[in-house]
Amino acid sequence: MEGRDASGRLLLRALAQRSVTDLAGVGPKKAEALEEMGITSVLDLVTHYPRRYIDRTQQVAVKDLKVGDEAMVLAHVKRVSSRRTRQGRALVEIDVFDGTAYLRCTFFNQGWRAKQLVTGRQAVFFGKLDLYRGRRQMTNPVVDLVGDRTGRIVPVYPQSDKAGLTTWELGDWIAEALRRAGDLADPLPESWQERLGMVERSLAMRQVHAPESMQAKDTGRRRLAFDELARLQVALVMRKRILERQADGISHVIAPGAGAPALLEEFRRQLPFALTGAQERAIAVITEDLAKAHPMHRLLQGDVGAGKTVVALAALLVAVQGGHQGALMAPTEVLAEQHYAGVRSLLGELTVPDDSTLTGDRVVRVELLTNRTTPTERKRLHDGLRTGTVDILVGTHALLTEEVTFRSLGVVVVDEQHRFGVEQRDILKGKGRSSGGADPDVLVMTATPIPRTAAMTVYGDLDTTVLDELPPGRTPVRTTWARGPLEVAAAWSKVRDEVAAGRQAYIVCPLVEDSERVQARSATDEYNRLSKEELAGLPLGLLHGQMPAKDKEAVMAEFRAGKLKVLVATTVIEVGVDVPNATVMVVEDADRFGMAQLHQLRGRVGRGADESWCYLLGEGSSPEAEKRLDALEDSTDGFYLAEVDLELRGEGTVLGTRQKGRSDLKLASLRRDRELVSQAREMAFDIVDADPTLGRHGLLADEVRLMIDDDEAEFLFKS
Ligand code: ADP
Ligand code: MG
Repeated sequence: MEGRDASGRLLLRALAQRSVTDLAGVGPKKAEALEEMGITSVLDLVTHYPRRYIDRTQQVAVKDLKVGDEAMVLAHVKRVSSRRTRQGRALVEIDVFDGTAYLRCTFFNQGWRAKQLVTGRQAVFFGKLDLYRGRRQMTNPVVDLVGDRTGRIVPVYPQSDKAGLTTWELGDWIAEALRRAGDLADPLPESWQERLGMVERSLAMRQVHAPESMQAKDTGRRRLAFDELARLQVALVMRKRILERQADGISHVIAPGAGAPALLEEFRRQLPFALTGAQERAIAVITEDLAKAHPMHRLLQGDVGAGKTVVALAALLVAVQGGHQGALMAPTEVLAEQHYAGVRSLLGELTVPDDSTLTGDRVVRVELLTNRTTPTERKRLHDGLRTGTVDILVGTHALLTEEVTFRSLGVVVVDEQHRFGVEQRDILKGKGRSSGGADPDVLVMTATPIPRTAAMTVYGDLDTTVLDELPPGRTPVRTTWARGPLEVAAAWSKVRDEVAAGRQAYIVCPLVEDSERVQARSATDEYNRLSKEELAGLPLGLLHGQMPAKDKEAVMAEFRAGKLKVLVATTVIEVGVDVPNATVMVVEDADRFGMAQLHQLRGRVGRGADESWCYLLGEGSSPEAEKRLDALEDSTDGFYLAEVDLELRGEGTVLGTRQKGRSDLKLASLRRDRELVSQAREMAFDIVDADPTLGRHGLLADEVRLMIDDDEAEFLFKS
């Protein structure tokens, strides 16, 4: 094959350019089947890693099996029978023989097994030996067809049943591909290879696809997983350094001299509370960033209730006091509305100079822009943004539309909730460029904490600040997962008791996926039901996303004033609602909510000095849901819960559908490979800082380019 490095070793790019059809045995039909599994190039094929390994040394002879043992046996199929049970379930019974004894394998509801396990075929059966009518058997064992493989360790590849490819076909093609490829180019600098105790890439590939021991496959996996993480970190660190080098930012004025408005000072003075140490530190770091000529790119993390909004607003006000504008972008309409309300109430009557008024100043003008904004209103807003009379704009991605132009956008805060991509952040930055010529400073916030490894992976191009301190006077919320009718009854009775004692409560309605309208309907039904049953006689209010803004505000005002004692609501209360007198929350069908969402919801109580309770109703509809509810019962630490969540759900959900490079993680796991993530990052800084354009790391540069899209490559290598 072409595409080798100076010492004749094959480049990954060359593997990527080769089609699987070049391999013996891969005809058009097999190629089509492979394509269904997402495999078109030889690179796709050799990075299709085994799902599991069968260690033949661990194999047990059927005659030695004891009832109750979990075991793996390798045996030939001798007899197959297939029928239906009286209840109409498919029943396939297979007798297998391993040279020592016969074993019966019984499959329920897997009629297709009769076609898969034909007489004479060899397979591995994993399962627990049980006794049925005196006969030793396995019920629904896991089956791996391994063909006539030799060797002690047999890799088992993910196979698509639909595609109809077997693990030994895949294994054969991969073996052929690796044999033909010969030695693979290795971009890992020798010093790092030594320091991390990594094996060479060609060896790692062999160890993963054809290991000689179970330990060897771990060694190989570690190396290949590191490569995936290293490519990603190099791209992120390059991006980070390029952003830092861009000098066309705004040097914001932090402490204006006489005559200029010291908005930040004023703002702090009029806050009804003292900032926490963590908030002080965050604001100090951020203002330092803002004062620099380079644009800021920072991630602000903090637990629910840590007070991120105050910090974000401080940053926006620095822009405003220097005569620029600020924008705050939220992922949903409801969140945008709530941020808007939150920002307005925190700002109070803060003023900026304005010569056109009688007093020479005016109140800081904050506006809201969402898809619900009417055309007339929108036009007024656009004018105000262009002329600079709107100081702070809060909104959804409606902010990203083309008509929105700022006179001078100075600071952008993005509240992400894992939903925005780098691309959208870039558009917002572009808005600054088109107005004043300079890039605005960017602060990204996440609604709830995300695990460290995930932050390094998803936000690896940003600096990070953590608010690791809650405002004083909060009492941890006592959380109970109410599993049975008695516990549920206790939850409702706690609501009644607390209301009787002058406190207030939230009831969060079951999550309905269909639509906002269905969600609103179900909340209304629940409201009607509760007012007749469990909470009869109490002053209840209803809040959902379909209500007109005016009605929502009215209900919230009554709840805040204590006229309504119980608020029956959808997740619209997730963020921003702040009533310290509310001490109980009941979440219905809590097993249907995600961890972060439940944690965020629970953050609505425990805001005052009084003891607070949260009841999670619902069955553990899956083992995962059970673990989630257990964790919430055990801990109120959002950073801990984020780690548990990652453990439970895997990285896919955390990484989402962000840049292409991020889906390059086939072996690496953000859960298991924490240390590798840090090491890859450390190496990336080491390499990029000494060689910013990777001019002296040609192999690495080529692999990074291979994994990212064209726009990103353009940005990283042409900037
Ligand atoms: P989150 O970090 O979850 O976004 P918020 O910014 O919504 O938190 O703040 C939660 C609540 O705490 C708000 O009511 C806010 O006004 C209040 N708060 C913020 N900082 C402090 C502080 N230093 N002392 C007391 N209350 C604070
Ligand atoms: Mg908030």
